[in-house]
Amino acid sequence: MGGTFDPIHHGHLVAASEVATEFALDEVIFVPTGEPWQKVGREVAPAEHRYLLTVVATAANPRFTVSRVDIDRGGATYTIDTLRDFREMYPDAELFFITGADAMAQIMSWKNVDELWELAHFVSVTRPGYVSEDFGRTKEISLMEIPAMAISSTDCRERVREEKPVWYLVPDGVVQYIAKHRLYQPDSADSAR
Ligand code: ATP
Ligand code: MG
Repeated sequence: MGGTFDPIHHGHLVAASEVATEFALDEVIFVPTGEPWQKVGREVAPAEHRYLLTVVATAANPRFTVSRVDIDRGGATYTIDTLRDFREMYPDAELFFITGADAMAQIMSWKNVDELWELAHFVSVTRPGYVSEDFGRTKEISLMEIPAMAISSTDCRERVREEKPVWYLVPDGVVQYIAKHRLYQPDSADSAR
């Protein structure tokens, strides 16, 4: 499951957990992005913070792990590169790529989209505020309805900036990590915005 995870929230975790159960996955690997090329116009928290937030949020689940491949590759993250790297690391694994409906629509807008289907099966989960579409690719993309979590990282960042709580939207450890490093606060050296 790729994402900016800026910060990781319960929408991400429910999506991962639901897909893992439905498809009997051995492991869900969270892959925080390097430079988020489609998020031009806003700064993103440093990769190291996003990586550690993801580790903190997933540490208790024995099936959840975090990969640094996109961060360590550097530069813009393209899902095709992520999947090629995983195919090389796990040549015999059956790979799934978990996305929300909004991210699936973005992926479908790429020009080299057809290369993706050989690398992984895509699972597009429902997300409040977005329409779920299989884009006529029912073999390559599974649509899955999951409990509606109207949570976004954008909203979490705004809430921190406005001194509103993010308790229960993100895991407790993420609330504490954000406070410790003063992320997403306008006066913070650590924060990107
Ligand atoms: P931002 O507001 O910064 O874009 P985000 O909440 O959309 O953050 P991302 O890191 O962009 O989070 O998303 C990573 C993946 O998780 C994407 O595939 C996205 O569609 C999916 N996702 C994020 N939030 C939810 C949610 N509440 N329900 C279902 N899927 C989600
Ligand atoms: Mg997003």
